[in-house]
Amino acid sequence: MNRNFTAFCAAMLAFAIMLVICGGFWIRDTAFSFAQTDNNESLVKSVYLTFDDGPSDRVTPKILDVLAEENVKATFFIIGKQAESRKYILERQFKEGHTIAVHSYTHKYGEIYSSPESLIKDIDLCNKVIKSVTGGYSSIYRFPGGSFGLSEKLVSAVSAHGMRYVDWNASVRDAEICNPTPAQLYQSAVTTASKTENVVLLAHDSTTKTATAEALKNIIKYFKAEGYIFEAF
Ligand code: ZN
Repeated sequence: MNRNFTAFCAAMLAFAIMLVICGGFWIRDTAFSFAQTDNNESLVKSVYLTFDDGPSDRVTPKILDVLAEENVKATFFIIGKQAESRKYILERQFKEGHTIAVHSYTHKYGEIYSSPESLIKDIDLCNKVIKSVTGGYSSIYRFPGGSFGLSEKLVSAVSAHGMRYVDWNASVRDAEICNPTPAQLYQSAVTTASKTENVVLLAHDSTTKTATAEALKNIIKYFKAEGYIFEAF
């Protein structure tokens, strides 16, 4: 009876020791995986600020002022035709370290999307304007309206032309909201970018988008506070 009891106690003790050891490993593993996750998140959280449809005399300089104050680089997808008479703005963008990329020369959907040849011709015309300022052609492209819903023929023509195209996964929605306030644009940026680690934020610097320039400082402050790194293409 005593022997049986001793054996029982020994078995229970062994079981308890096993629990402690395994439990210890489980806790360490869990802590390690949390640490890994936190670490990965802080490494990969990035935001690309992108501005389409500029340059404009009224809005682009204001956006550049904010970017300079916040020491942040952005990507400008320009309209070549508008830039012809505003090369002073492109020169400033280039000098201040921003990326100038191709959006369109005319931005007329009916013309540029009529055939792959028209699309490439439009891209090359825009790129000629960029080269006249930066000394080189851009290989970064954004389809007017985005690549969503375009024919495979058009999309593959751009890739075959050596261009990398960039859409977006978040937006200030300054092309959708009628007469937006800066607060609305800020809220759109925060909402559409939520739970996204690599944000490509769409905004516009065309002449009517004064609210975008006014919202920009707070938008940048938000991403900084959330630990994002700012990147340009
Ligand atoms: Zn556009």
